[in-house]
Amino acid sequence: MGLRVVTLEQYTLGGTVANFPRSKIVMTSPMDLPGHGEVRLYQTTKSELLSLWKQVIAKNDIKIIENAKVEQIGKKDGQFLLSTLKGDTYLTNRVLLAIGRRGTPRKLNVSGEGLEKVAYKLLEPELIFGKNILVVGGGDSAIESALLLATENQVVLSYRSENFNRIKPLNDKTFKMP
Ligand SMILES: Cc1cc2nc3c(=O)[nH]c(=O)nc-3n(C[C@H](O)[C@H](O)[C@H](O)COP(=O)(O)OP(=O)(O)OC[C@H]3O[C@@H](n4cnc5c(N)ncnc54)[C@H](O)[C@@H]3O)c2cc1C
Repeated sequence: MGLRVVTLEQYTLGGTVANFPRSKIVMTSPMDLPGHGEVRLYQTTKSELLSLWKQVIAKNDIKIIENAKVEQIGKKDGQFLLSTLKGDTYLTNRVLLAIGRRGTPRKLNVSGEGLEKVAYKLLEPELIFGKNILVVGGGDSAIESALLLATENQVVLSYRSENFNRIKPLNDKTFKMP
């Protein structure tokens, strides 16, 4: 649209997807990706999805500044003034927040949750074996984590509801398989 845009990312490109387990099947619906067109990937891999994004970013010359954590958004002369952790500043007419939810995982408020053995993401389940593991939650992430870990570990899934109502059909089917 001819606007000047910059994206500030606190770590590196990929967000939550970059933190998916390597072997995870990513389930998507068809989407119309601006600057690219229609994407019809129903089941794909983390690396395939990330490489699609890299192509789209290169093709459209999208500027992403990595390692730029936004710490403060203030006002200056009718514009927004953003400051990053490193001390860089940006003056802009508009700010779009697309910060996701993983920066602040919901915790249970129980003692011991800060211990090193409690994890909030699962990058390499294939390196975990012979353990007793409690997975807490009943959404897609919990079901997928439990399934990935269950091949080599004793896994118990703890969920506060009676049914898994919020999960994708493929997860539901795999989970119910004998
Ligand atoms: C285990 C798991 C499995 C999932 N599986 C699927 C699936 O199969 N299919 C599906 O469609 N969805 C799936 N999801 C959901 C999907 O990952 C999210 O809906 C999607 O990643 C959200 O994208 P987003 O861009 O809104 O946020 P994110 O991907 O979280 O990106 C937000 C970005 O903002 C950055 N950021 C945050 N704060 C700041 C700051 N102050 N300054 C600068 N940068 C900042 C973060 O570093 C991050 O890179 C899954 C999620 C999880 C956790």
